[in-house]
Amino acid sequence: MLEAVNPTIGVLALQGDVREHMRALAECGAEPVPVRRAAELAAVDALVLPGGESTTISKLLEVFDLLEPLRQRLRDGMPAYGSCAGMILLASEVLDTRPDMQPLYGIDMTVRRNAFGRQVDSFETDLDYTGLDDGQVRAVFIRAPWVEKIGDGVEVLATVPSGPAAGRMVAVRQGNVMATSFHPEVTGDLRVHRLFVDTMVRPRAGV
Ligand code: GLN
Repeated sequence: MLEAVNPTIGVLALQGDVREHMRALAECGAEPVPVRRAAELAAVDALVLPGGESTTISKLLEVFDLLEPLRQRLRDGMPAYGSCAGMILLASEVLDTRPDMQPLYGIDMTVRRNAFGRQVDSFETDLDYTGLDDGQVRAVFIRAPWVEKIGDGVEVLATVPSGPAAGRMVAVRQGNVMATSFHPEVTGDLRVHRLFVDTMVRPRAGV
């Protein structure tokens, strides 16, 4: 009899809300592992890039010799999901960041960091999310970015429904790489993680 195997999903653990993603992934039936070294990165089926401080994480990727190995795994088709700072890291171009920020080119998109401005540092809203048909998703934005421009082959999964930022792209997907401006890991709603695990990671990992 074949043993059921769960996909091993790394959570980039250099800085940010690592624990929340580890918990959400475990609840989705994956094996979450923290990733800080190239050998750990090489052993995972997929990677989650957490929220935190994108310029700090970018710097630490260089310090820990993870930048090129991570770019290579993304080029090779490793599934990845980034929330907030993770979205910024996965971009091909970042606006309003430090000049030495190193993009990972995981998704062909231009992302504006801290895009919602100081007045609306943090806010929550309900939004429709393509692929999640059983009701809206509660989206928590914390000094969040938005996606300003996308290339061919990038699918928009969610936009801001109303208010001054109405229509802004806040969730996107290109192949098996997904990014959200907001933090589903803090609400206890597992559907965004489940979408990643079940439709992007399992088919590719064969488990
Ligand atoms: N503003 C942060 C950055 O630039 C992202 C905030 C977050 O991840 N909650 O990286």
